[in-house]
Amino acid sequence: MVAMPRIYQVAIPTPLYRLFDYLAVPGVARFPPGVRVRVPFGRRELVGVVMGEVAQSELPANRLKSITQPLDDSAILPPSMLSLLQWAADYYHHPLGEVIHTALPVYLRQGRAPVASGVKVWSLTPAGKAVDPQTLKRAPAQKQVLEALAADADGLDAEQLAKVSQRSAAALKALRAKGWVSSHQRETRPVISGDLQTAPELNPDQKSAVAGILAGLGGFRPFLLHGVTGSGKTEVYLGVIEQVLAQGKQALVLVPEISLTPQLVGRFARRFRAPIALLHSGLNEQERLSAWVRASAGRASIVLGTRSAVFTPLMHPGLIVVDEEHDASYKQQDGFRYSARDVAVMRAAREKIPVILGSATPSLESLKNARQGAYTLIELPERTGTAVMPQVRLLDMRRLKPSEGLSLPLREALAARLEKGEQSILFLNRRGFSPVWMCFDCGWVAPCKRCDARLTLHHRKQKLLCHHCGAEQEVVKSCPSCQGANLHPLGEGTERVEGALEKFFPRARIERIDRDSTARRGALEEKLRRVHAGEADILVGTQMLSKGHDFPNVTLVGILNADQGLYGTDFRSGERLFQLIMQVSGRAGRADKPGEVLIQTWHPEHPLFAALQRHDFHGFAEFALNERRETGYPPYTHLALLRAEAPAPGAALEFLRAARALAVQLSPGKDVQLLSPAPAPMERRAGRYRAQLLVQSGQRAPLHEFLAQWVRQLTEAKFAKKTRWSLDVDPADM
Ligand code: ADP
Ligand code: ZN
Ligand code: ZN
Repeated sequence: MVAMPRIYQVAIPTPLYRLFDYLAVPGVARFPPGVRVRVPFGRRELVGVVMGEVAQSELPANRLKSITQPLDDSAILPPSMLSLLQWAADYYHHPLGEVIHTALPVYLRQGRAPVASGVKVWSLTPAGKAVDPQTLKRAPAQKQVLEALAADADGLDAEQLAKVSQRSAAALKALRAKGWVSSHQRETRPVISGDLQTAPELNPDQKSAVAGILAGLGGFRPFLLHGVTGSGKTEVYLGVIEQVLAQGKQALVLVPEISLTPQLVGRFARRFRAPIALLHSGLNEQERLSAWVRASAGRASIVLGTRSAVFTPLMHPGLIVVDEEHDASYKQQDGFRYSARDVAVMRAAREKIPVILGSATPSLESLKNARQGAYTLIELPERTGTAVMPQVRLLDMRRLKPSEGLSLPLREALAARLEKGEQSILFLNRRGFSPVWMCFDCGWVAPCKRCDARLTLHHRKQKLLCHHCGAEQEVVKSCPSCQGANLHPLGEGTERVEGALEKFFPRARIERIDRDSTARRGALEEKLRRVHAGEADILVGTQMLSKGHDFPNVTLVGILNADQGLYGTDFRSGERLFQLIMQVSGRAGRADKPGEVLIQTWHPEHPLFAALQRHDFHGFAEFALNERRETGYPPYTHLALLRAEAPAPGAALEFLRAARALAVQLSPGKDVQLLSPAPAPMERRAGRYRAQLLVQSGQRAPLHEFLAQWVRQLTEAKFAKKTRWSLDVDPADM
């Protein structure tokens, strides 16, 4: 009898909900799951990942194709990660091949080898170390380079040496000719140089938090670390990580946005003499691959990254931290729509390690899990040191007449801070000069041609921009409707407030922090540096200002348009608004000087503000959870949203009606409710009409059982081929 060649099941990046069978390469030893292979697929060749072996294929043997080429000697994804990706594919009802594809760095998707690149660094030879720099007085560049290398035992790369001397290249050449320096390859450049920082003495709450979490090391345990802003959550993470590293294990730390918090990276880098791998959107593909390889090979002790870093394999997993766990950026909003926070918890369960979800304003989902005992709740109710929570005052805008968005009490409060040399933050969730460009004769408002939205005036650029599709056009100077010339901006964005501040406070140093003012590489870092160095008096900006910053000299926070979102259409609008205001307010009075928060509102009687004044997160949460229970929204029910979009009006809705009819045929059971298809809140965006169909269920299991069948039938249905659609499990915005 002839031995049958082995048959492997391979996950391939296609929109199909299945694995594909391929024959083994003749003469090649067995492939374990997690090995990448190149396979023929249609007329193309694709990179897939081996998931397992089967004795028999559904296809007849003569129709099976062979693997073209194995790409790895051993698995690049360990069994725990394969199992996690399988879970994610099932839970989000997304094809496994695409899930795996999304989880890998681009270079690995393309079939490149998993190797980290090196950086050439220079250091002194023993002979070089013996040289007295004074003997190089006549060759100043050589002297500077020699001194710099003597000061840094780890060696310096060309970029670092270029900062030491403009003639570093020539100097290196000369020093090398003398046998005083040599070069070698190093895997990465240190994230941050500078001295190590020792840990502060933890306060009793922090100590018991660290002890509580340490007791969970070595097994799966989810913790919800609820600490008010400035309570020292980061120090708790660092305290736990210290022990994790001492055990020779690795820590994975997820943060919402690294570029916003270079300070945080610095704190991690300066605390431990341990290699860190950073994973964020600012990396090029080679850097991303290198960080991934160092993490998965166990050569990076701390992996610090944004959303997609949750899929980075670790050789010795010890701990996962999700900082600011409530943050919306953890939810992927297109393609494979996962929540990195939820994936992190599932991952910790598979790796049998603790996971810390930290926030000053936990999501209601996590809070409910904690209340039910699924997560261990740890509280840090007070700020560290002598810092106290800021005083929150409401400014009733029904009585105050603002000038360019700023009420008199707010202007007076700003003036008082300027007088004392303290810093202030003005928060306004709207960039640009004004959100509306309007004809004051006939009421015409400049619209986006491709969206159901208005164009925002950007004064410096002298352009009208759409913040939804990016469309850009010249500022219309004569009204298209009445031909008049009486066009004016209406309302304020950050750019306009910046201008108003310059007028009100001509001597103040003002920094605007929003997406426009920080688009240039390095601009944000420079602005943050100026704020920390005390070279700025007033910061005006968008939610970029709300995230994690620690500005000790800020004593005033003004919130200009607090009401935006108070009566939003999304059931999470209130929760989001509360989180945002609490986070921004949390920037005030973090050190020894007390802070004050002024909120401009037209609805001072709203209960949300009363809770904010008391810093009463739990009071707000109680109120919001009750509301969710009564209205049947998460976390008391589970949601899935079928989204559709099409260039023609009505087509998306029509698709959803057909999809609903198909769903009804599957008779999903009484617990699963199918709502009616409805246009999306902004129906037209970037020239496409969008609609959505909400599915709701009190129980997770029947919902997912139904979704699995529904999605598979939809992928095959003829009527579904014309429409772009996707399923969003646990949608974050709707
Ligand atoms: P959070 O992450 O909760 O906002 P941080 O960890 O950033 O708080 O701490 C706020 C500030 O207090 C930081 O400047 C930090 O260095 C400082 N800090 C934290 N814990 C302590 C402590 N035990 N003793 C002294 N300072 C501390
Ligand atoms: Zn638009
Ligand atoms: Zn007009």
